[in-house]
Amino acid sequence: MNRWIGVCYTISGPLLLFLKPVNALPDSAFIYPDGTNRAEVEALLHKAVTLLITEMTQAQQRSPLPDAIAVEQLSEWAKIPERSVDAEQLLEIVRSQLKQSMNAAHPGYIGHMDSIPTTLSIVGDLLVAALNNNMLSVEMSPVLSRLESLVLRQLATRFGWGPAAGGVMVSGGSLANLQALTVARNVAFDAVDSGIVGLNQQPVILVSEVAHTSIKKAAMIMGLGAKGVIALRPNADSQVDIADLKDKLVAVKANGQRPFALVATAGTTVTGNIDPIAEMSAIAKQHSLWFHVDAAYGGALVFSDTHRALLDGIDQADSITFNPQKWLYVTKTCATVLFKQFDVLKQHFRIRAPYMGDDEQWPNLGELTIQGTRHPDILKLWLSLQHLGTAGYSDIIQHNYRLSAQFVQLVQARPYLQLASQPQMNLVCFRLAPDTIDASQYDALNAKLQRHLLEPTSSDDSQSYQQSVFLSLPTYRNQRWLKAVLLNPHTQAATIETLFEKIDRFIAVRNLA
Ligand SMILES: *Cc1c(COP(=O)(O)O)cnc(C)c1O
Repeated sequence: MNRWIGVCYTISGPLLLFLKPVNALPDSAFIYPDGTNRAEVEALLHKAVTLLITEMTQAQQRSPLPDAIAVEQLSEWAKIPERSVDAEQLLEIVRSQLKQSMNAAHPGYIGHMDSIPTTLSIVGDLLVAALNNNMLSVEMSPVLSRLESLVLRQLATRFGWGPAAGGVMVSGGSLANLQALTVARNVAFDAVDSGIVGLNQQPVILVSEVAHTSIKKAAMIMGLGAKGVIALRPNADSQVDIADLKDKLVAVKANGQRPFALVATAGTTVTGNIDPIAEMSAIAKQHSLWFHVDAAYGGALVFSDTHRALLDGIDQADSITFNPQKWLYVTKTCATVLFKQFDVLKQHFRIRAPYMGDDEQWPNLGELTIQGTRHPDILKLWLSLQHLGTAGYSDIIQHNYRLSAQFVQLVQARPYLQLASQPQMNLVCFRLAPDTIDASQYDALNAKLQRHLLEPTSSDDSQSYQQSVFLSLPTYRNQRWLKAVLLNPHTQAATIETLFEKIDRFIAVRNLA
């Protein structure tokens, strides 16, 4: 089908109207609102869905992490063509891109806080992409803006807060931390209009040495400098040491600095530990500090029937970062920043946009967030919460904890393995540390094991990735460790047994036991 577009040319006098076929535009370039190209678009979407289903249901046959990337081919694909490339041909290219991508759907993909998404979050992302509403203003997303405010208020009350609480969605936990700390700074120094130039004391934030790097980034962006972050010493289990916190508060004040925020982490990035939230909140109150909890990962525990108590004291926070894109399995990106008093955003953050209407009940979210135009991440969050229910999430979290307990037991049963900390969530950070070799060789040995675990097992003429496992290799206390995040709902006890058999063989072959 050819679309005809009228092109007007004025040629010295009379207006001539040519109807010119726009052959360069493919039939399915847009979905026509009158349904004229419905068949073409439907066929294309069916092909895309078939591709998706085929690749996702064969995920176990591919490596949890891609083999060597064909960079030359990528450079070829990256070229911007003059003429339309056939959509089917493009889908085939996408197929080979999928095959070379991080394969979080593989049950052996347990190296990071990344998992397969809920089915309905895939559907949600597809539908909002078609709708293309804008979270900038209520006018541009009349249902989705309101839904975001309502669902986030519900979410906020899950953390033990009252009806004045609420939050906004942002594109990732780093932005959530930046926004929470910016509000904290604005409240402490009344900085919305005047900023912090001219302060005679350096504002500082106190946070654990093992906190997420986004806190330092936030301090840098906020004009405090990375040195505006005072690093608290963690204890042997990677949690803020309260005595050190008290000492540092005295020291920074004696130093003429002005602490204004204290940050606790619920789920540290390397070991998944949780700071002593309740004790830290009491100290924050005593010193009139804004108390922020970075629960980007661990916040999901509010949905756990069995492990909710690990977050005790979180209701004392002034703000919370929580990423449903992690333990709630919602497609990236999906992150929230929640405030005990939602109105604080209106008083200490909002910059009014004259081109938007105003309604105090349904604020334009673009006035209350760092981002302006923003993707509607709320639909996939809402769909996932509705479809799985809190009971569904509680069950998955319990499954994750059972696997973690099994994992920890298997580590502890082996004298040549060592835990980085006592795990509190579904993260287990450990390493090979056999006393048969010098400790200076441990880093190289663990890196070798990590590569070995990823390798396919080969039968006569084919390779199988069914047994492959991807663990990440973080640096922690200046050493290399292996990190397992037992997030994937398809990872089973058998996956973990196989992993430890592989580790045992790796040790036995090298006579390291
Ligand atoms: C993941 C994470 C972040 C950062 O979130 P992004 O979405 O990657 O920006 C911050 N803090 C903690 C504790 C995290 O686990």
